[in-house]
Amino acid sequence: MSDAGTSPWPAQVTVDLDAIAHNVGVLRGHAGSAGVMAVVKADAYGHGLVPSARAALAGGAAALGVAQPAEALALRQAGVAAPLLCWLLTPSVDADALLAADVQVAASAPWALDLLAAAARRAGRTAQVQLKADTGLARGGAFALPVRPGDPRTDFHALVRHAASLSAEGALRVVGVFSHFAYADAPEHPTVRAQQEAFADAVRLAERAGLDLEVRHLSNSAATLTTPAAAWDMVRPGLAVYGLSPVPELASAADLGLRPAMGVSARVAVVKRIPAGQGVSYGHTYAPERATTVVDVPIGYADGVPRHASGTGPVQVAGRRFRVSGRVCMDQFVVDVGDVAVATGDEVVLLGDADEAPTAQEWADAAGTISYEIVSRFGPRLPRRYVGEAGR
Ligand SMILES: *Cc1c(COP(=O)(O)O)cnc(C)c1O
Repeated sequence: MSDAGTSPWPAQVTVDLDAIAHNVGVLRGHAGSAGVMAVVKADAYGHGLVPSARAALAGGAAALGVAQPAEALALRQAGVAAPLLCWLLTPSVDADALLAADVQVAASAPWALDLLAAAARRAGRTAQVQLKADTGLARGGAFALPVRPGDPRTDFHALVRHAASLSAEGALRVVGVFSHFAYADAPEHPTVRAQQEAFADAVRLAERAGLDLEVRHLSNSAATLTTPAAAWDMVRPGLAVYGLSPVPELASAADLGLRPAMGVSARVAVVKRIPAGQGVSYGHTYAPERATTVVDVPIGYADGVPRHASGTGPVQVAGRRFRVSGRVCMDQFVVDVGDVAVATGDEVVLLGDADEAPTAQEWADAAGTISYEIVSRFGPRLPRRYVGEAGR
């Protein structure tokens, strides 16, 4: 999966579309009767928006989810016609374009409903919206919990009331209510249960206001895999679609039957001998104790290799494991390969699917972050090569 040998590029990302389809199948197995909305925001977590979306649909996803309006429009422009939810609006959003593209839009506040209703009136159509309830993440969504103890008036109440009146007028139709967990990666954490209860209350409130909901959804990857009772009508996994574990403390990707879809590899650009004590890369934070061979690898932090993984990031060169030696630079980093025979042009694997290949979780551990950040940051300077047939 990681052969850069056929490529003219110094470094590239390989995406296995069949792995994406397979992972959606695994998630469907956990979702019971709930549909899978595959989350393809952030260029499908770095895997490439359109090919990944098509592969997820081929694997049985019932819908797609994105954060930004531009992502939704890009999918439609590419001809992807599946049900599509977009959940991060600002007042400058082009509601007319989203309506024309038949994108469902999440509303966190009355102003968002007003923008969508105005666009619907202009077009003589009905806008499809989903109400986003904040059940305890305190991020997006209308806050659905009392701010003062015992006070029943919440922002979510106001959102539901406004939605019900615009819906009675025919300007919009509320197709769903959804929320998002703060702590789903720790399924025993008390907030997981508390958010499920708050979500049930939010759904009840919307239904009592006369909204005829088609979908109610709460579960991200971690909840889909660990808390099946939270599935409602739809689950909304992102990370697991790409074959990574959202609960690395509890289960690896392999334990969960997931196949990592992303490979990252580069070709050795320079090979040289250096003497004992010669400092390597900026700041000379690494110096070998004896004469050694170092190789220069043409991929750096501008491509998404975390600079925080200086001195620690795992790589495989000539089939053997090493770590980044010294600081990761903008376009390159150095690896001390000792006395192993390495030639210019040899492959360096940063992420791969072979048994001994480094994983996104190892990079995350090396950089003090999460695997989400590792894959989503491998950037546009790296060409994507797609393998597998799913969705093509
Ligand atoms: C990113 C996101 C998801 C997917 O989360 P994962 O942890 O990657 O499964 C689901 N819902 C919302 C609202 C999100 O922002």
